Amino acid sequence: MNKYQKIVKKFEKDRNWGQFHNPKDLLLGIVEEVGELRNIVKWEQDPEVLKKTLIKNKDEVADGIGDIFFLLAHLANSSGVDIDKAVATTIKDLRKRFPVKDFKDNHGNRYIEGKDKKDGVKKSRNFKKRS
Ligand SMILES: [Mg+2]
Repeated sequence: MNKYQKIVKKFEKDRNWGQFHNPKDLLLGIVEEVGELRNIVKWEQDPEVLKKTLIKNKDEVADGIGDIFFLLAHLANSSGVDIDKAVATTIKDLRKRFPVKDFKDNHGNRYIEGKDKKDGVKKSRNFKKRS
């Protein structure tokens, strides 16, 4: 289990907050925090101005990232997911899907003329087919 998952688990247990933190509300909390981050950059389109705005407001950005990770750790704990393993699997799959030899200086958005090996790469996670 991820170091922060353990801390969040203890934090929740010490306060007996599990009764309030159902998964749906954790998800909505993540959306709320993403919205707070979006407020920092909303309506700006210039990538350079966006980068500078994030750096200029680094404390607010860090606050939002911390809040999101805290809620993600809660969600992972309540779902039995090990964040370190989940992220490692995602990175492994992304490396297969976007190998450096094909994607250096090329994005993967096939909707705007990029390439994507999504259809040709088997994911590490096997999801059950639902009918
Ligand atoms: Mg916040």
